[in-house]
Amino acid sequence: MTGNEALEVVLVPVLSDNYAFLIRDAETDEVAVVDPGEAAPVERALTERGWRPDWILLTHHHHDHIAGVETIAKAYGAKIAGAAADSARLPALDASLVAGEDWNFGAQLVEVIDTPGHTIGHIALYFPKGKALFAGDTLFSLGCGRLREGTALQMWSSLSKLMALPPETRVFCGHEYTLSNARFAVTVDPENAALKDRVAEVEAQRAANEPTIPTTLGREMATNPFLRAEEPSVKAATGLPDADGATTFAEIRRR
Ligand code: ZN
Ligand code: FE
Repeated sequence: MTGNEALEVVLVPVLSDNYAFLIRDAETDEVAVVDPGEAAPVERALTERGWRPDWILLTHHHHDHIAGVETIAKAYGAKIAGAAADSARLPALDASLVAGEDWNFGAQLVEVIDTPGHTIGHIALYFPKGKALFAGDTLFSLGCGRLREGTALQMWSSLSKLMALPPETRVFCGHEYTLSNARFAVTVDPENAALKDRVAEVEAQRAANEPTIPTTLGREMATNPFLRAEEPSVKAATGLPDADGATTFAEIRRR
């Protein structure tokens, strides 16, 4: 459990390296499941707590984020919320989410942020009161999602929207990729002391079989090379001292 007073979040490891999340609004006891790529571990985590989900929230259409939806929706009568733009590729939606149209979960506002790049219809869900961002496969700790459908420029613009959120925002990512991301990060940002500290911490966490998630946005801004594409030191290490952020980002992603 990694809570603050407003929004409790439970990490549920599913499949080989995915995370699903249980979230609970403290004021109303409303419960949701985010990105259930597998049903059984999520149902076990719910049963342990005596929780029943009212909602299933989806960031994008990939199988490893939605495969458990049908089973969980049937078992609990949970409703499904996802991107209106991707409704043809998602399970049938009860709430069609659109960027700029706020949605409510329990007593909290949820900001829907369009984050195309990994997929075209990808969204991130930001809970300002709960200080939590569900980033799906857009932003990982020390990394970012692969460009399966979108362009580097789209992904850079999506990440730039997330970078504008408050630094204390807890970032919940869709995968435990941090250790392999760390090994790559030091190749493009070798002089970054904060990154070196983070790499040592991540190695210790993974050796102890602990999750490296959540991270915070402030910490990612200081250590994640994909968010540091505007930094002169990262541009220099990438061999693009005069490039703009988008170009440097594209080169880091290409590598
Ligand atoms: Zn994905
Ligand atoms: Fe994924």
